[in-house]
Amino acid sequence: MDWRSLDEQYIISTYKRLPIAIAKGEGNYLYDTEGKGYLDLFTGLAVNVLGHSHPRILKALHEQGDLFLHISNVFLNQPAIRLAQRLVEQTIAGKVFFTNSGAEATEAAIKLIHKWTKAEGAGREGIVVLRNSFHGRTLGAVRLTRQAHVYQDFPQPVFSVYELDAEDTEGLREICRTAKPAAILMEPVLGSGGVVPLSEPFLRDVEAICREEGMLFAMDEIQTGMGRTGKLFAYQHAGVTPDLILFAKGVGGGLPLGGVIAGEKLMDLFKPGDHGTTFAPSPLSAALGNAVLDELLDPGFEAHVNEVIQYLWDGLAALRERLPQHLQALRGKGMMVGIPLSVSPEEASRLQRDLQEEGILVDVTQKTIVRLLPPLTLTKADVDRFLAVFAKRLTAASSAKEA
Ligand SMILES: *Cc1c(COP(=O)(O)O)cnc(C)c1O
Repeated sequence: MDWRSLDEQYIISTYKRLPIAIAKGEGNYLYDTEGKGYLDLFTGLAVNVLGHSHPRILKALHEQGDLFLHISNVFLNQPAIRLAQRLVEQTIAGKVFFTNSGAEATEAAIKLIHKWTKAEGAGREGIVVLRNSFHGRTLGAVRLTRQAHVYQDFPQPVFSVYELDAEDTEGLREICRTAKPAAILMEPVLGSGGVVPLSEPFLRDVEAICREEGMLFAMDEIQTGMGRTGKLFAYQHAGVTPDLILFAKGVGGGLPLGGVIAGEKLMDLFKPGDHGTTFAPSPLSAALGNAVLDELLDPGFEAHVNEVIQYLWDGLAALRERLPQHLQALRGKGMMVGIPLSVSPEEASRLQRDLQEEGILVDVTQKTIVRLLPPLTLTKADVDRFLAVFAKRLTAASSAKEA
């Protein structure tokens, strides 16, 4: 079957695809229809935090699948209630609103911030976001996504948006001198914006300014959450306390699920009828989310993840020392790595294809930044394999160019 041409014929082409038809996933590997295995350092864009076909997830899938798949928000949803309780207990005092996706979590956040603006009546309005941020593709979320290729000239909902550079504390003070924004929303590590981690002092300064100004402090943890940076949520490294946390991607164990954790200032602002969705929270997604949490919160798991994270970053640093002309920078946090390459976008795509040929899947963002989003179940052997192949292909690519 020529899946490639059928794809082109029947599916609107909004994604650049790798020409691989996946037949099966197991552990940290994906297998194509030819049986070739790939180390998956991409995890469906930070979704499969426990790799593929994890026994705990499969067990939850079968158990909940045997009971029911969908019941609607008319009924009490036990897996979702349990998941909400656990998310709150692990983060901030508050309540959860569930969505199906990250963009919908951003939409819920925009509405909640609007409700707070109205309820608070302090004349504050609008949201501060970072340059190169990514908060999703629906129209409200697109307005908060400061990447021109994403927002284009699509129609924009009417609310104020202020753009700030990462680490620019003074810039935030300046915005607050001339305007009264209601909230600031930031990714603790900018994801598609180039894997840029915010420093802990910057996060603490922003929190302090929010407290001084009476502004909401919101974190988009859609990509950074669920253990990706070595803690359950990335803001926890900085010891700050957000008023609002957005989550999605890994939280449904591979099924669609997202939402917001609304702190005490926000948790009672939505009344029945103010917001809603048919599917979320899917009981099946929530059951899988509980299975993911069972694993992440298992004593020993965090220690294991942080050991492999250390090993990965030590290996990357050593590689950079060995190949300084190829690896001018490395950035990220935990299992979120950005490797900016000083090559053309075509050469970066070629390297991605070379790695794929060797059986390793990586993402490329901002055209020339190799992005790794490995499963948290990554092993030291996986790290060794990636580093060896990456070094080989990186040097081969440039000696071919010189020749
Ligand atoms: C992926 C992502 C989103 C959007 O999530 P979707 O589920 O694709 O709508 C929003 N914010 C961040 C930081 C993301 O990484």
